Amino acid sequence: MAGFSYAILDSIEQEIAVIQKDGQIVYVNEAWVRFGANNGLPKTDWLQSNYLDICISAALSDEPAAQDIYAGLAGVIHGHRQDFSYEYPCDSPDEKRWFLMNVVGLTGHSKDLFVIIHSNISQRKLAEQQVERLSLLDPLTGLANRRHFMQFLTAEWQRNRREGTPVSLILLDIDDFKHINDQHGHGVGDECLKQIASLVGRCARRPSDLAVRWGGEEFMLVLGNTSVETALTMANELLAAVRRLESPVHGHCTISIGVSSAVPTEDGFEALIQQADSALYQAKKAGKNQVFRYGQSAS
Ligand code: GH3
Ligand code: MG
Ligand code: MG
Repeated sequence: MAGFSYAILDSIEQEIAVIQKDGQIVYVNEAWVRFGANNGLPKTDWLQSNYLDICISAALSDEPAAQDIYAGLAGVIHGHRQDFSYEYPCDSPDEKRWFLMNVVGLTGHSKDLFVIIHSNISQRKLAEQQVERLSLLDPLTGLANRRHFMQFLTAEWQRNRREGTPVSLILLDIDDFKHINDQHGHGVGDECLKQIASLVGRCARRPSDLAVRWGGEEFMLVLGNTSVETALTMANELLAAVRRLESPVHGHCTISIGVSSAVPTEDGFEALIQQADSALYQAKKAGKNQVFRYGQSAS
């Protein structure tokens, strides 16, 4: 039976080790040995090694996970916790990797032995990252969605507040878009949205910029560390670029733009969004196809 149990342990892909209270390793399965050999660990006689010592020397040589693993492991060994689970990144030279470590007491045998189970969870982590990326994107245009906008502006607001630099918003809405849909159909409307989204996306050039699909036919540009003058120049260039767009199906279209700008205070950024919205409203009221800055009086 013992041989059968060992054969099972040697057949599974997770790396398994059993240690004593003092950290001395008393068992490793084949996957554990293989992992060590494939990951450039010095050839080790595992059964002569102490896992706690290995963690300590890894922590000293600046392995960021080793200190946490040591603390979790010690917690289980000293009975402060029943088990310990820890996910950590550990890239190899040619791929991104994550691992999960579980530590539990060895049940039904001796309460002074502990099982360490180490598994590669990279596939799940990559899938999670992909879901996270998709959850921040507008599927039609590929621009950021409002969820991303909130995260991004929250971070930019804090950063610019610390640095005393202005954040500017450019909010734009396609003029008479309903006509394009009504005259040419929703598919053509979607194409027009994508064309304009691509121009808006090109305006976001720096890591502190973000191009957002704000709503149906509305887009927002967040510009960190950008003065109102620069934002107005960009807004006017965007207005001109959209005018130059020529579609064989729906011809030309135009946009209206509202611009707002502020050096962040401890108050939130809601007022800045409101101001861009109200400037956009003024641009529409003044006849569309133009840029308005918040606080600008209609001429
Ligand atoms: P205004 O100049 O005042 O902005 O007028 P408008 O016609 O652009 O504005 P309105 O709000 O009346 O209409 C917006 C239209 O945008 C109505 C809606 O069906 C359309 N729309 C919203 N989202 C999408 C989309 O994803 N695809 C398409 N094709 N149309 C959309
Ligand atoms: Mg519109
Ligand atoms: Mg609109």
